[in-house]
Amino acid sequence: MTYDPNNIFAKILKGEIPCHKIFEDEHTLAFMDVMPQVDGHCLVIPKNGSRGLLDAEPAVVAHTMETVQKVAAATVKTFMADGFQIRQYNESAAGQTVFHLHFHILPMFEGQSLRPHTGKMADHAVLAAHAARIRDALE
Ligand code: 5GP
Repeated sequence: MTYDPNNIFAKILKGEIPCHKIFEDEHTLAFMDVMPQVDGHCLVIPKNGSRGLLDAEPAVVAHTMETVQKVAAATVKTFMADGFQIRQYNESAAGQTVFHLHFHILPMFEGQSLRPHTGKMADHAVLAAHAARIRDALE
């Protein structure tokens, strides 16, 4: 299994398709998931391409986790979540659908269940508003 540099997240990194950006630095990009399982569902990806966790350089994982921590804090604050999950799928058997390493950040609320994985496309105006609110909450 090799990394395909034309996957959808690689295209987002190259600016070939748009995203609702939350945060970007030298190593990582964070943006809204277009089919959110809960309001505030966002993704963090390294700029360096790998299919999943096992073929990524440890330093890339470390940089990515720094951004995950930063964006998770801002997301929880923005949505006043009771908690959050970090999800990361490796290969189809595990539910991975985009083969560029990424971490899901899912704000969680007492008694609330998640919508299906890769379910319904959200309204772009709503995603843009959520991204703006999370950006404002970044430390
Ligand atoms: P995976 O199943 O690979 O862990 O998750 C891929 C995620 O990417 C899914 O949650 C899906 O909703 C999201 N996704 C798929 N295509 C796009 C896209 O073009 N833009 C954005 N922002 N998210 C996408």
